[in-house]
Amino acid sequence: TIVVFGSINMDLVVRTPRLPAPGETLTGHSFFTAPGGKGANQAVACARLDAPTRMVGRVGDDLFGEQLRHSLRSFGVQDDGVLTTPGPSGVALIAVDDAAENTIVIVPGANGAVGSEDMPRLERALDGARALLLQLETPLATVAAAARAGRARGATVILDPAPALPLPDELYALADILTPNESEATTLTGIPVHDEQSAAAAARALRARGARTVIIKLGARGALAADANGVRFWPAFTVTAVDTVAAGDAFNGGLAVALSEGRPFEEAIRWGLAAGALSVTKHGAQPSMPDRAELLALSGV
Ligand code: ADP
Repeated sequence: TIVVFGSINMDLVVRTPRLPAPGETLTGHSFFTAPGGKGANQAVACARLDAPTRMVGRVGDDLFGEQLRHSLRSFGVQDDGVLTTPGPSGVALIAVDDAAENTIVIVPGANGAVGSEDMPRLERALDGARALLLQLETPLATVAAAARAGRARGATVILDPAPALPLPDELYALADILTPNESEATTLTGIPVHDEQSAAAAARALRARGARTVIIKLGARGALAADANGVRFWPAFTVTAVDTVAAGDAFNGGLAVALSEGRPFEEAIRWGLAAGALSVTKHGAQPSMPDRAELLALSGV
């Protein structure tokens, strides 16, 4: 199995002609809600590829909490590790204007309450798990505790340092694989990452802090990986992009599923690249995650 420990959010999305100025009231075009949160997105990415997947995290005792659980289950994610906690579920308030500019306010809600009481549930979920997926939308101390639990159980720990925050050295050492995108790699290292060369420099810097394997996701360019054997770049699959939301989450899902099936590292990277590419050909976060047949057709392995 794959265990995902992290955030579960409801995205509340408004389309508006332009973003409102402070104090201004505007009439928007449309409104919809969509399940999100990097943790839940990565769990859906894994489950869509037919991997037995357990989510560990929290939702609130509100309507969104019910809907978020139901949505996870409908994608095939086991939600017995999700605790319903008093108070609101995590939300992201997203406004998108006609020029595709956006503003986002995230309120962690139940995700912010994830803490040491969640560790026994995580440890139960980790029993027999091959991989543990982590991100940074729950409190940092909890992410470190989860990483420790994953390593103790022999799971491959894949840490997505998103959204980027300065990380304690301990967390680098606890990650088997660290998977920043360009902007996260830039924030973590201070090296402006915009091409293969700068990504290679950033990957080396992150390895020097203790991460064993670093994969930098380079959007439409592809991905670069650095480990003890050196640095290697893979170009992206060519697709027509319509919505790049959650491409990084799709990549991590593909990578984790391949590794949990015992596939070699290069093949796992191809799965990540293929999942990321397919996800940008569809709208939305979770509904854009490819299924196994689509992924096999594109990746060729
Ligand atoms: P994030 O969503 O975290 O910003 P990226 O934008 O780097 O992450 O996308 C993650 C991965 O998805 C990339 O490494 C790449 O493999 C794939 N991908 C993203 N955008 C495209 C694209 N336009 N064409 C093909 N593959 C893409």
